[in-house]
Amino acid sequence: MLIHKVIMESPLESITNSLSELISDQSLNATNPTLKKELENILIQISSNNDLYGPSANQISNQVDLNPIARSLLKTYSNNDLMVHKTSNHCTLFNLNKEIEHLKVWGYDPFNHSDEQLISMLQSMFMYYQMPEKLKISDIKLNQFIIHVRQLYHSHSYHNFYHAFDVTQTIFTYLTTFGFGKHLTHLDIIALLLSGLCHDLNHPGYNNAFLVNTFDPLAIQYNDKSVLENHHIQLMWTLLDQFQFLKNLKWDEKKEFRTSIINSIIATDMSLHFPLVTKLKQKVTEQKMNQFKYINSTSQDRQFLMELILHAADISNIAKPWDISKLWCERIGHESFLQGKKEVELGIPTTDWMDESKTTVAKNSLNFMIYIGEPFFSQMVELFPQTKSCLDHLQENIRTWNNISNLETTK
Ligand SMILES: [Zn+2]
Repeated sequence: MLIHKVIMESPLESITNSLSELISDQSLNATNPTLKKELENILIQISSNNDLYGPSANQISNQVDLNPIARSLLKTYSNNDLMVHKTSNHCTLFNLNKEIEHLKVWGYDPFNHSDEQLISMLQSMFMYYQMPEKLKISDIKLNQFIIHVRQLYHSHSYHNFYHAFDVTQTIFTYLTTFGFGKHLTHLDIIALLLSGLCHDLNHPGYNNAFLVNTFDPLAIQYNDKSVLENHHIQLMWTLLDQFQFLKNLKWDEKKEFRTSIINSIIATDMSLHFPLVTKLKQKVTEQKMNQFKYINSTSQDRQFLMELILHAADISNIAKPWDISKLWCERIGHESFLQGKKEVELGIPTTDWMDESKTTVAKNSLNFMIYIGEPFFSQMVELFPQTKSCLDHLQENIRTWNNISNLETTK
């Protein structure tokens, strides 16, 4: 029997193999030794880097112009050396048709509503996409599910039920107003909306780095990898099971649904932000070369789109109209400073941008917008020009925070 050699190279292996071949070519050394040396350096860099999509810790540390607070923020969000630096059914409350139009608007303000009203609006958004019909569940069951989800969010200043609502409503805007829904299947849309609602279930108000550094039981359970995100997914799945939401799906539908929620919620781990931006840039380049269009998308393209939408919605506060955006920034500032205090109290490595004595909400908001938000939302506009208004808000907010920050400095 003939045994065929199966070639199973990843694109990266193909590149490194080609490079190795070039380097070992004797004639290259004779004709251009400098080029050979450069190729060797490239090969070493590729081989010694675990994360080819994100910027390296050294790259961030070596930027002399970067202020220490921005450096600290970028280190947190680039997944680098985390341990090293020391340092009731209320549908009748609303006229569904009227309210649903408001819910399609970018910059909807959830703060003036009661929990009951938020629950009712969530139900409206799910019903807009016929979730009860698709999953063959009753409206009452859907309502009970949302009420249960509500109970699993705590009263932190940022990671609370308002945030869960806000992310779900922002996804709804992407799907409807920005037209992303037409690139997804009905089941994708339901998985995405449910993921938005559940993506921060039982959030403790501290980030992954804190849980890892305190050897929290959750960090132990998930081996320090996307600790919170894994926890949110696990709770979400248990709840879906408990409410028998998926029992009427076919096996392959259920399998795909599970993959969608896992990948989408894992993509909200901020340490995966830079790799996501790199992939987004690749899609932009492919589109410019006319090799990519979000029409008749493959399942991989649809999955990537779901990850993009959930992540965008999760960090969308900075790209909302100023009044609402400012409130969110103050809330995340408050929650982060509480973590900063706790780090000092416990004597664990501290995070500069969470230390209230070293920074302000204005400085943190600016750094986050400039280094994290703007590069992401501007690439989104490249791929989806209909999202331009989000980038406009973001850039306007940068100018406003900059003015506030300058005033703080001159005080
Ligand atoms: Zn979130």
